[in-house]
Amino acid sequence: MSSVGIDLGNDSCVIGLAGRGGIDIILNESSNRRTPSMVSFQGKQRFMGEAALSISRSNFKNTARDLKRMVGRRWEEPELQADLARVPFSTEKHPETGGVGVRVTYNEESVLFSVEQVVAMMLNKAADIAKAANSDLSVAEAVISIPGWYTDAMRHAMLNAVQIAGLNCLRLMHESTATALAYGIYRSAKGEFSDGNARKVLFLDLGHSSFCASVVTFTQAALSVKSTCYDRNLGGRDMDWAIAQHLADDFKAKTKMDPRDSHKSMIKLLDAAERAKKTLSPIGVADTIVNIECLVEERDYNGRLTLEAFEKLIAPLVARLDAPVLQALKEAGVTVDQLDAIEIVGGATRVPLVKRHLAGLLRTDPAAINYGLSCTMNADEAVARGCALQCAILSSRFRVKDFAIVEAVPYPVRMVWDPAPSDDSDGEEAEESGNSTMVFHRNGDSPRTRRFTLKRNQPFTLKAVYDDPSLLPPGAPLEIATYRIDIPQQFKGVSPPCSVRINVRHDLNGIIQLQSAQLMEEVAEAPPAAADASAAAAAPPAAAMEVEGKEGEAKGEGKEGETAEAAAAAPASPVPAEPAKKKFKPVTLAVDAATAAWKINQVNAAVEAEASMANQDRVVKETSNKRNELEAYIYSMRDRIGSGGDLAPFTAPAEAASMSTALEQAEEWLYSDEGFDSTKSVYAGKLKDLQALGGPLEARLYESQNRDAATAELRLAA
Ligand code: ATP
Ligand code: MG
Repeated sequence: MSSVGIDLGNDSCVIGLAGRGGIDIILNESSNRRTPSMVSFQGKQRFMGEAALSISRSNFKNTARDLKRMVGRRWEEPELQADLARVPFSTEKHPETGGVGVRVTYNEESVLFSVEQVVAMMLNKAADIAKAANSDLSVAEAVISIPGWYTDAMRHAMLNAVQIAGLNCLRLMHESTATALAYGIYRSAKGEFSDGNARKVLFLDLGHSSFCASVVTFTQAALSVKSTCYDRNLGGRDMDWAIAQHLADDFKAKTKMDPRDSHKSMIKLLDAAERAKKTLSPIGVADTIVNIECLVEERDYNGRLTLEAFEKLIAPLVARLDAPVLQALKEAGVTVDQLDAIEIVGGATRVPLVKRHLAGLLRTDPAAINYGLSCTMNADEAVARGCALQCAILSSRFRVKDFAIVEAVPYPVRMVWDPAPSDDSDGEEAEESGNSTMVFHRNGDSPRTRRFTLKRNQPFTLKAVYDDPSLLPPGAPLEIATYRIDIPQQFKGVSPPCSVRINVRHDLNGIIQLQSAQLMEEVAEAPPAAADASAAAAAPPAAAMEVEGKEGEAKGEGKEGETAEAAAAAPASPVPAEPAKKKFKPVTLAVDAATAAWKINQVNAAVEAEASMANQDRVVKETSNKRNELEAYIYSMRDRIGSGGDLAPFTAPAEAASMSTALEQAEEWLYSDEGFDSTKSVYAGKLKDLQALGGPLEARLYESQNRDAATAELRLAA
C-alpha cells in the first residue's frame, strides 16, 4: 500500500511516493522521472505515457494529449476551442457530458471517449508506475494536482476521472499550493520560521500551458495562501508554437510549401521547435541548428535559430507574465520589497529571457546567479513532492509534523434563493438582502464552512453561483449547484415560518457542498441531549440552541475547524440577552442536490468500461508474450539441433528431421494471417506441441551433463 502525489501536468506527469524517509520521485519503466501525459490507441491496445509517446508520431490521430485543460469544460468555451484547434486528434462534443469527447479508432472501430475517461487512463498509468516502483499491489491513497483556476465543474470532472481510475484521492491540490508545501514544510521543521515573523514568498510557475503567480505566507505552524493569479493560456508550448510559425514561414518562403497544412508536418515542426528552445536555454548558447527530415513530403528543412531571434519571437509572450504577478502582489497586499523570496518552478522558467524579465519586473539583482531569483526547488518535481507530502499529512498511515495548509478561495461564491412567499413575510423579507448572500469571498480562507438562516414554511430552492464572471474562463458556467430543500409536512404553512439554517462548505477539493440544512423547531423546554441523533451528527455541539443572526446573513468566518456553532458562540457575534429565551431543536432537512458531478450510473458505466479495457490490455499483452515465447522457441530449437548445437549429439537423424519439419510448419503458421493474430491459448498449444518433441532431447542433454558431474564427484570422494 502506498501514498502518492501525482502532478498531472499538461506535458508530463510526475509521481512522488511518500515513505518513512521522505518523498521519492518514482522512475517509470524507461527510468525517467517524468512520464508523458499521453494516451494512444492502436489496434486492440491502449498505450499510456512513454509507450504512447513512442508511437505518437505515426499514430497522432489516435493519441490524446493536452488533456487536463479539457476536463470538465463546456464544449462551447472559447479557450477550450482554441486548444482543440491545435491538437492533432479528433474531438467532438460528448453527448452525455456536454464537454470534450475524444474520438479514436480502437478495436478497429470508431470509439468516442469522454476526456474524463482518457484522463482516468493516464491516472491509472501513474498508479501502475507507483505500484511497480514500490513492488506493491495497490496505491492506497493519492493527492492529485490541479490548476487553481479549475472551476467547480472541472473539479467534479477530475474527481469523476479519479473514480473511474479507482483511486482513493484524499485531495485535489492546487499546483501552486503543493509547491508552497514542498517549500515550507522542511524549512518549518528546521525552525526557519520560528522567530514569529511570517515569511512572504512569491511562487511563480511557468509550465507547458499555464502560468501561475501565488503569494504565500509561512509561519512555524502553517502556510497560508494569500492570492493566486493566472494566465491560463501561457506556457512553454506557446513558445514552441511561436518558433514553429517562424520556421514554417521560412520553409514556405524557400519551398512554397506550408507545413501548417498537415498535422504530421506540424508535429515534426513543434518537436523541432521545442528542441531548439531547450538548446537555447543554457547560458552562453547563441544559436542552434534546426534540421527536420522530410518536413513536407520529401523536402527537409535546414535552418538556424539564433537566441536573439528566439527572444524576439517570445517577447510578446514573456510580457504577459507581468499582469498575473502584479495582480497577485496587489491582492495579497504585499510589495516587492516585503517579499522574503521569489521561488520559480515549472519547466519553462529555464528560458533565460523569462528569468531576466521576471528579474526586471521584481527588481532582483540581474548580476546574481539566476538573476537573483530563487531556484531552491526542483522545477519539474516541486508539485509532485508537495502532493505526496499532502498525501502523507492527510493519511492515517504516517505521522507527519503538524503543518496547516490554508488555501485561498479562487472564485467568489454567492448563494441565491427564491423569495419567500408573501404570506409568510411578517416584515422580515427585506432582510433577505436581494435574495442572495455572499458565502465565499475571493482569497478567503479555504476549506471553510459558512452558515446563514432563512425563514421558510415551504420547500424551496437554493443555488450556488459564481459571483464574478470576469474571473472565470470565458463561457464557463456561472451556476455551481442547485439544492432543492424539503420542509417536513408538519412545518408546511406554519406562521411565522421556521428558521432554516444552511451550512455551506468550500471543501478540501475547492468544491462547493451544501453540508446541511436544518430547520429550528421551537420546543417548550430544553429537550434531552440526544433528541435528534441525525441532526446532532450534522451539527455537533448542540441539540438545542438559539436562533441568531439576521435572515440571509452568512456567518462562520472563523478558522477551519471551528464549526458554525462555535463561530456563533464566539464573542464576535453576541446573542442579544432576552429574559425568556426560546429553545430550539434542529431538524435535518432532506436536500436534493444537482451538481456538476456525474450521475452514479454514468460513473458505473465508465468504471465497467475501464475494467474491461484494462482486462483486454492484459490479455493482449499476455497473448503477445506467448507469441514471442513461441517464436523464440522455434529459433532457438533450430539452432540447438543444427550442426554444432548443444542438442545435436543427443538427437537421432529421424528425430532431427521431424523436429525440423515441425519447426518449419510452426514458423509458417506464425507468419500466416491466422498465426499473426491468434489467441494466447492457441500459441500456448503450439508451444506445448513443440516442447513435447524437444523435451526428450533436452532431458538427454541434462542427464549427460549431470552424469558427468556425478561421476566426477564420485571420483573426488574416492
Ligand atoms: P502545466 O504546468 O502547464 O500543466 P507541465 O507541468 O507538464 O504543464 P512543466 O513540466 O513544468 O509543465 O514544463 C514543461 C515545459 O517546460 C515544456 O514546454 C518544456 O518544453 C519546457 N522546458 C523544459 N525544459 C526546458 C529547458 N531546459 N529550456 C526551456 N524550456 C524547457
Ligand atoms: Mg506544471
